Amino acid sequence: MHYDHILIRYGELSLKGKNRRNFIYQLHENVRQQLRDFKRIKIKNTRDRMTILLNGEGPKPIMERCQRIFGIQSLSLAIKVENSEKAIKEAALFALTEAKNVSTFKVTTRRANKDFPIGSQQFNYIIGAHLLKNTDEITVDVHNPDIDVHIDIRNDATFITSARYSGAGGLPVGSSGKSLLLLSGGIDSPVAGYLMMKRGVTLEAVHFHSPPFTSEGAKQKVLDLAQLLAERGHDMKVHVVPFTALQQKIHREIPFGYSMTVMRRMMLKITQMIAEREGILSITTGESLGQVASQTMESMHAINAVTSFPVMRPLIAMDKSSIIEIAQEIGSYDISIRPFEDCCTVFVPTAPKTKPKLDKVLQLESQLDMTAELAEIEQNIEVINISSQKDNHDPLTQLF
Ligand code: ATP
Ligand code: MG
Repeated sequence: MHYDHILIRYGELSLKGKNRRNFIYQLHENVRQQLRDFKRIKIKNTRDRMTILLNGEGPKPIMERCQRIFGIQSLSLAIKVENSEKAIKEAALFALTEAKNVSTFKVTTRRANKDFPIGSQQFNYIIGAHLLKNTDEITVDVHNPDIDVHIDIRNDATFITSARYSGAGGLPVGSSGKSLLLLSGGIDSPVAGYLMMKRGVTLEAVHFHSPPFTSEGAKQKVLDLAQLLAERGHDMKVHVVPFTALQQKIHREIPFGYSMTVMRRMMLKITQMIAEREGILSITTGESLGQVASQTMESMHAINAVTSFPVMRPLIAMDKSSIIEIAQEIGSYDISIRPFEDCCTVFVPTAPKTKPKLDKVLQLESQLDMTAELAEIEQNIEVINISSQKDNHDPLTQLF
């Protein structure tokens, strides 16, 4: 006997009323995409959960991938048997004896199939007695057992599970529209992207690159961060914007205190242009109030005025320490701290205005013709496709 299924429990999905069907469809699609390398598996979903028939594939890599997919609350290995007392007894005994370091257990029966002739409570006793009789030194503890042998009797079959592993939670990516993420090589923006994906948002990324002031290493870092995000959701387009010429012009022509504000405005303007081209309806950044000169209320007012698009800032009220905690948890931190420069730091003036005035910014911009540089940029954006399939994360050792 062996575990032949993985059972997936939906997350917040269950609260979503009428949208439920769409969410389940989206989750099914995402699971199918993420597991497309495993040719033999069969995925099936019902109203309240999803099952994956392993069909000879090894469970470990599949479980690990599933743990990164948003919209999954928890998952378990399962054995599917027919609705007979004999078959259920055998599978329950397998689940108990196969588990490691177990000295106490309990049995929990859920009987969705009301035609099954034995009541749940009575069935717990029957299976419990069978397990006690066929094992040594294992006892029942209904309050705090080492293992809960779960018996789920459905219309067509019964699923037996024991350990429950936590999923990534959130909503399935693709169920909340699409956003264009400004992805730098820093700590904040990958975390912002992660949080948006967790809320069901599909992402594309835009990165501003200023060679030779920023190196290939800086660009690679961003692609590695995009890879990490892609593995949690979907293949991802990264738009790499050649920013050098425009940045140099701003640096040369705009008075020192205002160059950072104008540069940020141009970044948003170009981002909106890409979003329009791609049919994306919002922009996401890793901004957090008070972190740097561009993230004061006055700066954000002056910078934001350049776009009519909603700008999502999932980190706006978060402490740096909490952001770092998430970065470490998702594995982006070690990539982000690689020592490469960002275009915003290379050209940053020594004393940027922390309280720029919008009318002054508009007046300065009106004296600077950036049309040629913007047109040149538009022609030369490099689009890189990042696949969701590369597996370069740490194995989830606690699973097996
Ligand atoms: P991060 O850690 O994400 O780089 P930060 O705290 O260093 O953020 P800034 O450098 O001021 O803050 O950048 C604020 C936001 O602007 C970033 O979170 C990111 O969304 C965007 N951004 C900055 N530099 C770039 C870049 N080179 N390409 C794309 N987006 C950028
Ligand atoms: Mg940065």
